[in-house]
Amino acid sequence: MLRAFFIFLSKADWAQRIITNWKFAWRMASRFIAGETQEDALDVVRQLNQQGILATLDHLGENTEDQKAAEQFTNDVLSVLAAIHTAGLKSNVSIKLSQLGLVLDPEMAYANLTRILDRARQYQNFIRVDMEDSTLTEITLELVSRAKAAGYDNVGTVIQSYLYRSEDDIRQLAQKGIKVRLVKGAYKEPSSVAYPKKADVDAAFDRLTKLLLSKEAEIGFYGGSGDGLFPPLAAVASHDVKRIRFAREMLKQLDLPEKSVEFQFLYGIRRDLQQELNRLGYPVRVYVPYGTHWYPYYMRRLAERPSNVWFFISNFFQK
Ligand SMILES: Cc1cc2nc3c(=O)[nH]c(=O)nc-3n(C[C@H](O)[C@H](O)[C@H](O)COP(=O)(O)OP(=O)(O)OC[C@H]3O[C@@H](n4cnc5c(N)ncnc54)[C@H](O)[C@@H]3O)c2cc1C
Repeated sequence: MLRAFFIFLSKADWAQRIITNWKFAWRMASRFIAGETQEDALDVVRQLNQQGILATLDHLGENTEDQKAAEQFTNDVLSVLAAIHTAGLKSNVSIKLSQLGLVLDPEMAYANLTRILDRARQYQNFIRVDMEDSTLTEITLELVSRAKAAGYDNVGTVIQSYLYRSEDDIRQLAQKGIKVRLVKGAYKEPSSVAYPKKADVDAAFDRLTKLLLSKEAEIGFYGGSGDGLFPPLAAVASHDVKRIRFAREMLKQLDLPEKSVEFQFLYGIRRDLQQELNRLGYPVRVYVPYGTHWYPYYMRRLAERPSNVWFFISNFFQK
């Protein structure tokens, strides 16, 4: 109920106008967001790298409304790729195709994506295409597969365990050698396409982890590039200790080394667990969002955890 309400708010322009005008809202959101500028984000990546943790940078924004804005976003990604390279940081970049104009014109989004992939290739870096709501799943997978078929080996994507279709999608992506980040899924979806119950989403997450890691075992250990930029075939992105425990157990059963999976976390969540896994020798990558378009991202983080909402509300009243 609360989850649905905050996901609804994440898309409501009127709520965005009100909430982003509260100074305290940014203070609360900044627990999950590195800062408003590229420099803020690079500082956070530097600190993570110093602890042995890798990063993926996300310049916040979604559903770009015109061609100019899509081009601007593309240029911002090119700029952050150059900055990562110059600073010698261990970070790749995550993008959303709707930032590149997907909803306006898929061909425009594809052209922007290949500009980004070309630049990333120049720096031997990797681009992860985030997954958005289910109206964009098919076209996102289509464009990522098209880029891979065109010779871009530096592109990967995300699969959500709440969608019924995900097992087929993982099989197809693994066959094409496309790297997958597995997540539970952050959007409000109808029961015609996604499991409504959390227990089913969790069970599917474990099944898909097993499938992904088995694919990795089939091709013979397939780790990341070792310089922190390219991930292995499988990334398990969850803060849920049971899901992480299951993935570690599967690695043992399949006799795969620690390096064959990357554990990924969102910035600001379960830092203790990030450090523990890092100490145990697993690659850990933190998703670092930055920029001024933080509102929908922050609302989705509130939706995931009622205690974040109470924290938000109690701070509001203390003000
Ligand atoms: C690196 C990364 C990239 C992602 N990319 C995408 C994407 O491209 N598309 C997409 O749909 N989703 C994406 N997600 C979000 C994902 O789908 C989930 O919504 C999110 O990770 C919460 O689910 P969970 O697996 O952590 O499990 P949950 O069962 O939601 O949470 C497990 C535990 O984690 C902690 N936790 C989880 N969320 C929060 C929070 N917001 N605040 C504080 N504690 C929390 C709590 O301790 C909670 O009990 C991504 C997540 C990660 C980690």
